[in-house]
Amino acid sequence: MENICVLGATGSIGCSTLDVIRRNPERFSVFALTANSQDQKLLEQVREFKPQYAVLTNEKAAARLEQAVKAEGLKTEVLSGSKSQALVAADSAVDAVMAAIVGAAGLLPTLAAVKAGKKVLLANKEALVMAGDVFMQSVRDSGSVLLPIDSEHNAIFQCMPRDYQQGLENVGVRRILLTASGGPFRDTPVEQLQGVTPEQACAHPNWSMGRKISVDSATMMNKGLEVIEACWLFNARPDQVDVVVHPQSIIHSLVDYVDGSMLAQLGNPDMRTPIAHALAWPERIDSGVSPLDLIKLGHMDFQPPSFQRYPCLKLAQDAVSAGGTASAMLNAANEQAVSAFLGGRIGFTHIAQVIDATLQEASFVSASSLDSVLEADVKARSLADRQIVKLA
Ligand code: NAD
Ligand code: MG
Repeated sequence: MENICVLGATGSIGCSTLDVIRRNPERFSVFALTANSQDQKLLEQVREFKPQYAVLTNEKAAARLEQAVKAEGLKTEVLSGSKSQALVAADSAVDAVMAAIVGAAGLLPTLAAVKAGKKVLLANKEALVMAGDVFMQSVRDSGSVLLPIDSEHNAIFQCMPRDYQQGLENVGVRRILLTASGGPFRDTPVEQLQGVTPEQACAHPNWSMGRKISVDSATMMNKGLEVIEACWLFNARPDQVDVVVHPQSIIHSLVDYVDGSMLAQLGNPDMRTPIAHALAWPERIDSGVSPLDLIKLGHMDFQPPSFQRYPCLKLAQDAVSAGGTASAMLNAANEQAVSAFLGGRIGFTHIAQVIDATLQEASFVSASSLDSVLEADVKARSLADRQIVKLA
């Protein structure tokens, strides 16, 4: 029996994780569930999975949950505050942690799990984008096993040779190829992009996801963040990671070998596949995902990504090449801009403008300490907020 802690349990990845756990009750038990403020949803999960701990960062929501848990006679202990998430993730009883908080808020609890040497299933790509240097050093120091949940990185992990940490050129890999769906605006005339609404941006054609990552997919910042994530996870240089638009989202990514072989992982677009892969790794378990029907699929398409349509992809590629705290600042500016777009304060194409202006104004330093990363995050948010006020 493996004891699992799910950080961000009420979100899209959190719920998919609990569904895979539900299908494999003989393998997994839930030790802790955490979320931000959705006490009703967490209560339902507590009833079903009976964890030892339930954490809500929002104190009022935690108080409501505690009252309900007591009233129903459940044994789960309710904690509040963001530090409690790190505590439960690092608890000695935990075997594996699903890191599925969205955004920079996931960094410290995920890092706590890494430092405690847990098996970490990483969905929270923003943690690596911000603090890849510190994060990967902590993985090496603690001996934590890091398994990628992002579908592209999970696919690459499945296609990579065992010893990839030695550097791609030393293991016969020419490059990594990340696939991108192109999002909901792949065929929208570029001049109409400024007028699109948050609802349209969140209506992804292939994947059902949280609102922040849905907007990131529409701008293709998501792929930009994933290029940076791939560099850290697979010890790759930015020039060894390419992006190809593949509208069907069936090939989740590819590894291109020097002998001309290209290995790909395919499947229906459902996050329960990478989640089940990482939960059971190196074994395989049922995920509830229906098998891929190639005949029904018929064909697959591929196109190059356009920087005119997706300027955020270029901003991310430039940030990873700049190095240091540039990626942390890119991520922070993006979070502020996406939140302003979702709140109706700026238009869709303003997102890239805010990030671009922020990075132009910013200066970057080494990102080898957590303090420098957190400072860069705060600085970029205030620079981005000024741009947002100008554009609003
Ligand atoms: P979501 O918005 O559906 O869920 C986010 C979860 O994080 C919720 O449980 C929420 O309560 C929690 N949370 C939010 N802010 C928090 C805070 N300040 N403190 C503590 N908890 C907080 O997001 P999602 O789509 O599940 O994505 C989660 C992560 O997984 C993101 O980093 C995303 O990029 C990554 N990811 C998601 C998908 C997907 O299909 N949804 C695919 C690949 C990667
Ligand atoms: Mg992805």
